[in-house]
Amino acid sequence: MSITLQTLTITEAHKALLAGDITVRALVDMYLAVIEEKNEELNVYLTLHTDIDDQVERAQQMFTNGTATELTGIPCALKANLMRKGQVANASSRILENYQATYTATVVQKLEDQGVVFLGATNMDEFAMGSSTENSAYGATKNPHDVTRVPGGSSGGSAAAVSADMALCALGTDTGGSIRQPAALCGNVGLKTTYGGVSRYGAIAMGSSLDQIGPFAKNAVDARIIWNAIRGQDEHDMTTISNDYWDTTVNKDVYSIAIPEGFLDGVEPAVLEVFNTAVLKLEQAGHSINRVPMPSLTYGLPVYYVVMPAEVSSNLARYDGIRYGKQVLGDTLLDTYVKTKSQGFGAESKRRIMLGTYVLSAGYADKFYTQALALKEKMKQDLEEVYKTYDFVLTPTTPTAAFKFGEKSSDPLQMYLEDIFTVSANIVGVPAISVPMGTVNLDGSDMPVGMQFMGRHSEDLAVLDIAEKFENL
Ligand code: GLN
Repeated sequence: MSITLQTLTITEAHKALLAGDITVRALVDMYLAVIEEKNEELNVYLTLHTDIDDQVERAQQMFTNGTATELTGIPCALKANLMRKGQVANASSRILENYQATYTATVVQKLEDQGVVFLGATNMDEFAMGSSTENSAYGATKNPHDVTRVPGGSSGGSAAAVSADMALCALGTDTGGSIRQPAALCGNVGLKTTYGGVSRYGAIAMGSSLDQIGPFAKNAVDARIIWNAIRGQDEHDMTTISNDYWDTTVNKDVYSIAIPEGFLDGVEPAVLEVFNTAVLKLEQAGHSINRVPMPSLTYGLPVYYVVMPAEVSSNLARYDGIRYGKQVLGDTLLDTYVKTKSQGFGAESKRRIMLGTYVLSAGYADKFYTQALALKEKMKQDLEEVYKTYDFVLTPTTPTAAFKFGEKSSDPLQMYLEDIFTVSANIVGVPAISVPMGTVNLDGSDMPVGMQFMGRHSEDLAVLDIAEKFENL
């Protein structure tokens, strides 16, 4: 049986493995061959895991002894801020250079238990701050559709891995869009789960009230398979939701969908055109779509860029070269701190640490941080109103398709605007998915763009369902 990686899904790979048409070894080797061929140019993987052979053997064993699941033997990429014991997890930072995880993240353990084969650690923006993967201390990742363009970020490596057939699926983290935005720019499906739906234990923390781990996949069905495997309550993460809480009865034949009126004004015309065509298709399929004013969505970016740096400044404080992180020794203790942090962190991390420290400082906290928290509540209430009538809020995932290297990196505010449609789901804690909606032609390359469905709290299954319905149109 011949296997074409480009169109292969988890479901099909599983069938082939189960039927014995292909072995785990042969499947993994196909991906390793592509990695060998493309990684130098694309810079997708920072390192490959050192125990691939053992993982392959274990997975094949599961087929032999009848304990295999849909995920057994499936080659998966892991963002470099997710820990797998003994493997490099450096969050693409100098300060964690060569750091090897001392324990395994809950999500990784769950997938390992099912025999997933982890191939390696993928490149990202340092500590997950960025929208282009240009903030990595180890060089940028290139977009497989056009190597002069960014793959998005911060999980750019994971998104590119799936698009370039360097993994069949991947895990990333999403604090303000870092799964959905690169999934959109690389042309795959990316899911940000309900806050607390998936354990964060073993993810290198950035913005703890916003961070969620989630899958990159070829399609919505594959994303659901991974989501099902990684979700659930975890004694190591007190924010995880009890398993009884999930509403599994949310699938409908047709959904009612709201598009925020006036909120799409900044979207590039070519992207908007693809979006409008996609909306038409949804309407023709019977879903009802209305334009609804949602003014509080405009608070998303300002709230995010206060709350997120505030949490970053406290989460990254531990990397001082004494307790955590690579030490650069100075003449005095203070000198050691200064040298360690100056050389260990990149420009964007420093910018956010300073910004976060500022908005939390005495005299300013009330003016910025407390205000942001109040606006967050307001956004929650307003969206809850919308969700009384509508199942989803629909927008493009991003205002633009993949941009060129350097185009936005010199202007942080331009870069932050990339997140305009994605940050709200993290702020209010609801699930959201990006699913490919078409391509726009940029200088001769067809660049993918994505559509985002943002659903009700704990209705991840509905979000996956509408994504699947949309794919099938
Ligand atoms: N691009 C956003 C930022 O730079 C989102 C990052 C993320 O989701 N990790 O903060």
